[in-house]
Amino acid sequence: MTSINKNYLNLKQNYLFYEIGQRVKNFSEKNPDKKIIRLGIGDVTLPLAPVVVEAMKKAAGDMADAATFKGYGPEQGYEFLKDAIVGYYAGCGVALEADEIFVSDGAKSDIGNILDIFGEDNKVLIPDPVYPVYMDTNIMDGRDITLIDSNMENGFLPLPGKDTRADLIYLCSPNNPTGAVYSAEQLKQWVDFANSSGAVILFDAAYEAFISDKSLPRSIFEIDGARSCAVEFCSLSKTAGFTGTRCGYTIVPKELVRDGAELNKLWLRRQTTKFNGVSYIVQRGAQAVFTDEGIRQTRENIDYYRKNAKVITDALDRLGIWYCGGLNSPYIWLRCPNGMKSWEFFDFLLREANVVGTPGEGFGKCGEGFFRLTSFSDRASAEEAMARIEAILKNN
Ligand code: PLP
Repeated sequence: MTSINKNYLNLKQNYLFYEIGQRVKNFSEKNPDKKIIRLGIGDVTLPLAPVVVEAMKKAAGDMADAATFKGYGPEQGYEFLKDAIVGYYAGCGVALEADEIFVSDGAKSDIGNILDIFGEDNKVLIPDPVYPVYMDTNIMDGRDITLIDSNMENGFLPLPGKDTRADLIYLCSPNNPTGAVYSAEQLKQWVDFANSSGAVILFDAAYEAFISDKSLPRSIFEIDGARSCAVEFCSLSKTAGFTGTRCGYTIVPKELVRDGAELNKLWLRRQTTKFNGVSYIVQRGAQAVFTDEGIRQTRENIDYYRKNAKVITDALDRLGIWYCGGLNSPYIWLRCPNGMKSWEFFDFLLREANVVGTPGEGFGKCGEGFFRLTSFSDRASAEEAMARIEAILKNN
């Protein structure tokens, strides 16, 4: 009889968003007159920039003419897009070669798929709380996982210590869900640790475009020594509203060698075998993101979300509630007031303010007692939600 990958049986059901949905549904059924505001979603709400839409329309036209029609493209992405990404990184002082960039349908797939090129005997280090995909994809392969606590004491930015042992290290900066961002000095500690121990850092930069503080690194390759120990995942999902359009990229430097093999070559082999590339139309749209006009238009959208974040953090400041994130991230991570637990605060906000956020405990045990709000809403909703929250908390 066919056997299955038994590691899948070790996956915990991810109840977080299901449970949120159920509680909101129950509340709405009992209170049909209440207008619920959702500040919990991690998906963008503004449309694609006009320059991107124009580029995709033109590309659709190319597909209508035999002279410009495209069939299968290069699995690792068209040169025009890889060159645009090289130019974008040069803007942060990072020199890349086009064949170190692998275009994909988004960061989530690459983060999961990269594990194909690593042995199952690697010890994995994952911060807690964090984006759940890192944990689940390693459970699927049966790897040994250690969690590293991310908490108020370390500013939700854990660093390597003398007891740290790991072969694969996940770092997410700006972080989902905490919004915390590593400084260059802090990332350097991880890079030095990885280079001295032979570990590999899997760096998730999905939210790099939200960094407004110029002193903070947007790419791990801004750090000396990272080219010999890190892989970077990035995506146009949050940078340019591509969550439904789908395009991302992974950078594997040629200096990254483990077990005598160049990881760049292994990943190329993996991608050319199991992936057939991103559609030409989407890649033309992605190319437009990296033009001067594309950067200007997509940054306008990010500024809009940033102002929503300011509406949220201003209200938290007035309430004297501790939080991190918001300034260089679409996420605001707050400590639940009055010692409430995450789900207790969720129910309280839903009941008293009809506002929905995300309980921090859903991202890991260190998230207990914390709560995530996001700036991906419209302005009026952010303002109304925070006015309601202030009204119910200001006398507490
Ligand atoms: N990495 C992080 C930290 C995320 O929060 C997300 C999506 O929410 C992703 C990666 C996945 O992005 P993509 O849409 O490119 O698959």
